[in-house]
Amino acid sequence: MHRIGVLTSGGDSPGMNAAVMAVAKAARYHGMSLIGIKRGYNGTLCKSHHIEDDMLELDLDTILDIADQPGTYLRTARCLEFHRPEMRVHAVNNIREMGIEGIVVIGGDGSYHGAMELCALGVPCVGIPGTIDNDLAYTEMTLGYDTAVNSCVDDIRAIRATSRSHDRPAVVEVMGRHCGDIALKAAAGSGAEICIVPEVNWSIQEVANRLSRLIDMGNPRATVVIAEGAWDAMHPMDWHRYLRENGCHVHDDDVMNTHFLSLMLKYKCKCEARPTVLGYTQRGRTPSAYDSWFAFEAGNLAVNLLENGIGNQVIGLKDGRVYYLPIGMALQQKREFNLQLYNLINTI
Ligand code: ADP
Repeated sequence: MHRIGVLTSGGDSPGMNAAVMAVAKAARYHGMSLIGIKRGYNGTLCKSHHIEDDMLELDLDTILDIADQPGTYLRTARCLEFHRPEMRVHAVNNIREMGIEGIVVIGGDGSYHGAMELCALGVPCVGIPGTIDNDLAYTEMTLGYDTAVNSCVDDIRAIRATSRSHDRPAVVEVMGRHCGDIALKAAAGSGAEICIVPEVNWSIQEVANRLSRLIDMGNPRATVVIAEGAWDAMHPMDWHRYLRENGCHVHDDDVMNTHFLSLMLKYKCKCEARPTVLGYTQRGRTPSAYDSWFAFEAGNLAVNLLENGIGNQVIGLKDGRVYYLPIGMALQQKREFNLQLYNLINTI
């Protein structure tokens, strides 16, 4: 191949820029030129007035400078048009016109579906799992997950320090969409006493019982770590019953959140539980050494595959080393939740 493209798609994650840098370096090594496609698949549709706003030649010296920066230099966005077959044909025409012979797609499972569609139209693609959520079963870690967990552990430690000073519990919400891995590892890494995840059914009463027991045992400063997607796994009767008993008429979203959980624990456990939603700081941190290393290896392997005419693959980590497998096979794998670690964290 003489020219390849690279794009970042879906939610941003720390390490995306490092992966773009690695792709640029490997492309230079193999004597290929590199086109950066902007705002995910939107760039392939060339909707802007100036072509540089959609696709631009990447200069390795510039890319070297962005390697340790969080966010994504190429920008990222959803591209709903890409779900339409005729728009994908239009994209492939633009890709061919630019002389791009293969694409490295850095994103999550949605982006992988888009990559598979491009492969079906004759554009070889290789995926790198850029998402903090760690929700892709085929890889031990996704790119950005380690940084997100480190960010949470730092913040939870700070929150625990003030909880300790005031002898009051903390409820901390972390990201991860429908996957509890960030919550699980952040809870284990920070010594939190209670962890709530989407993979395990739970109820406010059961959390309150556990917190009350911790308080009775002399630990009034316990930390509850809750994954943002955990509300989907709450026993439905728990909050319905509460609302009915108290004659409340409010929308689900106003009730099923971390502030409400804190409020409930406050009343049920007679304590001063304080909520914190960690939010986007988890996505915007400088990539950890591990994520930077993974990005470097993954970018290099992706370019090697394209150079050898191998497309329709994704890069992952197995036994701590980078490997690749077909996109379809990767997407079929089912995630296994670490129930043993979950039980251990929640042991009181
Ligand atoms: P993530 O890659 O983080 O899972 P999304 O699910 O939002 O993020 O997907 C990112 C983009 O991938 C979408 O905006 C769309 O452009 C493309 N995409 C997702 N699913 C498909 C699909 N089934 N077919 C074609 N393109 C898709």
